[in-house]
Order: sequence, then structure tokens, then C-alpha cells
Amino acid sequence: MMNLTILGATGSIGQNTLSIVDTFPDRFTVRALTGKNNLDLLARQIIRFSPDIAAVFDEDGAAGLEKRLPSGCRTEVLYGQDAYIAAATHPDVDMVVSAMVGGAGLLPTLAAIQAKKDIALANKETLVMAGDLVMAAARDNNVRILPVDSEHSAVFQCIAGNRRTDLQKIFLTASGGPFLHRSKSDFASITVEDALAHPTWQMGSKISIDSATMMNKGLEVIEAGHLFDLPHESIEVLIHPQSIVHSMVAFRDGSVIAQMGIPDMKGAIAYALSHPERLPIGVAVPDFPGLGSLSFASPDMGTFSCLALAFKAGEVGGTMPAVLNAANEIAVSAFLERRIGFDQIAGVIEGTMERHQPLMAPGIPGIKDILSADMWARKTAQTLICKPKGKATA
Ligand code: NAD
Ligand code: MG
Repeated sequence: MMNLTILGATGSIGQNTLSIVDTFPDRFTVRALTGKNNLDLLARQIIRFSPDIAAVFDEDGAAGLEKRLPSGCRTEVLYGQDAYIAAATHPDVDMVVSAMVGGAGLLPTLAAIQAKKDIALANKETLVMAGDLVMAAARDNNVRILPVDSEHSAVFQCIAGNRRTDLQKIFLTASGGPFLHRSKSDFASITVEDALAHPTWQMGSKISIDSATMMNKGLEVIEAGHLFDLPHESIEVLIHPQSIVHSMVAFRDGSVIAQMGIPDMKGAIAYALSHPERLPIGVAVPDFPGLGSLSFASPDMGTFSCLALAFKAGEVGGTMPAVLNAANEIAVSAFLERRIGFDQIAGVIEGTMERHQPLMAPGIPGIKDILSADMWARKTAQTLICKPKGKATA
């Protein structure tokens, strides 16, 4: 029996994880759940899975959650950063599913690693912000980091059984998002609804916007660099609109191994939970004759400049990727709140990066350096978003 904590249980990855847990009650037990806003759903999850701990963002959230739980409910409701850490470090937990969105995932994930919990990692922002530090902590604590991001799960699966020295490069595939064939001059007219309508994947709002700008693929390049210890020159992004090939690995003899499947995150989540075993999760094998053809192309970095910014931040290193990530979070929130246009997202990030003096101390930036760069970038990005564009609506 594997005891789990699910950070971000109410999100897209969190819900998919719980549906796998539900299917295999003899294999998995939920000991802690966390969430932020969707208290109705969190209450239903608590009633269904009866964890020891449920952690929410603040005191109001905790009071709201208590009200939704039946009297005599055994789950202890906690709130605040300490509560997220308590969930991440629950003494009886074997694996923590890190599925909060954004930089908020970093400290609980790091705490889980320091408490020697294996990590099923969906929260890519953790590695973008502090990849060197997090991977070093995982090594020091003998912790496995199993990728949940579908591309990274694919690379992990393709590498298995091969010698590291034979690896030549990896290909990270990208659907290209909903605006693959739009010209940059059309970006100003893109609405929030257009940008949230991802053609192949069902995901939370932040990652859906990141996919539309292709920042998501940029964050994934940095994530892959840390997970597989590869320079960015060995990571190539390929546009693959069908999202069937989840990623590929090329070896020095010219052979390429691809991992394929229909676009359903349950596959990557279940593999992280059960590695090296595979679970019968009810996901269908792709209908290849029905698909007809699979296509590949290089990304247009001029149109999707967020991808170019991410490559640049990765090259600079130090605190720059944390700044990229924080500025992106602020720009994406502002777009979702209709305070800036889709065409302004990249400019906010670029402006913030230009103003940053990256900390390039020998060794790796410490957690304090990363958190202060993150905070500085959030403030700087906010000041760049000074001019409201239309009225904010819910
Ligand atoms: P989501 O928005 O659907 O869910 C996010 C979860 O985090 C929710 O439970 C929410 O309550 C919680 N949360 C939000 N802000 C928080 C905060 N400040 N403090 C604590 N908790 C907070 O997001 P998602 O799509 O499930 O993505 C989660 C993570 O997984 C992201 O890092 C994303 O990049 C990554 N990921 C998602 C997918 C996908 O298919 N959805 C695929 C690959 C990677
Ligand atoms: Mg991905």
C-alpha cells in the first residue's frame, strides 16, 4: 500500500490522480490533500478519501471547509504555508504528488524531498525556479523524482534500459496550442476564452495560457534540462499538433525511441505512481489508421517569443529562470483578469528579465536568493502592467 499526499488535489492533475486512486484502492491511500479555492470539491474529496490532513490557503478557507464537512469528520483541517508543509512531510506518506500550480509549489515540494518522500512531479515551476537546488536535495536525500509532465514521462520511459552515454539528444513535442497558425499581428485580438480552448489537452487555466504562448514548452525545456541533466543544446522542441508522440529520445547510433499515447494525463500520472509497473487505467491505445498521419515541424520562435525568452533564461541561468517564471505568472494572471492583451504577455516577461541582474554566484543560488528574485520579479512585472486594458471581468 502506498500512502500519498496530493498537493493541489482540486486541480486538473489532482483530480486525475484521485480518480486513479479511486480505481486502485488496494494500492493507494490518501493521507493528505491540499487545495486553495474550490472548497466544495475539496470537501467532497475529503469525504470520499478520508485523509488525516487537509490543508488550505488561509483561515477563511479553513473555516469554509470545516463548514462543508460532516460533524465527526476525522480529517484535521489546517491552513497556511505551514499546513502545506505539514501535508508534504506527513510522517506516514511515501510519495507526494506535487500538483499545485506556479511558484507556490516550490517550498512544499522541497520540504517533501528533505523529508525523504518520493515525488511525482507535475509542478514544473519547482524545477524552473530552483532546479539545481531541488535536484541536489533529491540526490542528497536519495529521493526519486518521477515526472508527471507528459513529455518528461515520455523521455523517462524512452531512456529506460539504455545507457546514458549512448544518449544523443531529446525531442520535446508540443501541440503548438490553439494559435499555431496565427500570425503575431493577430495576437492583440485573442480573447481569454480563445486562449483557454486548448486543442488536445484538458488542463488548468495557467498552463492552458502557457501552452497558447508556448511558454509552457520553454518551461519544459528548463525542466527537462534539470531532470535529465542535459544542456539545452541537446533538447529540441518539435511541433506535433496531434499530441500522440509525447516525446522522443535519439541515441548515438541514429535510433530514435518515441513514447506514444492518446493525450490523457492519467497515463503519465499512473506511471509516476506505479513505476516500474504499469496499471490497467482504461486509457485506449491510439487508433492509428483513424489518425492517418502524424506531423512534425520546428517552432516559430519569432511568433512565439515566450519560447525564445525561456531558452534565453535557461542559458543565462542563476536566478534568471526564477525571474522568467515569476514574470510569466504575473503576466498570465493579468491576461486572465483582462488587464493586458495576449500580445502583451511576452513584453512584460522580457521587460522584467531585462531589468534583472542575475545572481551568478559560484555554485547554485540558495533558496533565499531564488525567493527574493521571485518576489522582485513579481513586483517589477506588476509595475510594467500599469495601464489597464478594458474592464476586468470575472
Ligand atoms: P490547476 O489550476 O487545475 O490546479 C492547481 C491546484 O493548485 C489547485 O488544487 C489549486 O487550488 C492549487 N493552488 C493554486 N494556487 C495555489 C497557491 N497559491 N497555494 C496553494 N495551492 C494553490 O492546475 P493543473 O493544470 O492541475 O496544473 C498543476 C501543475 O501541474 C502545474 O504546475 C502545471 O504546469 C503542471 N502540469 C499540468 C498538466 C495538466 O495536464 N493539467 C500537465 C503537465 C504539467
Ligand atoms: Mg507537458
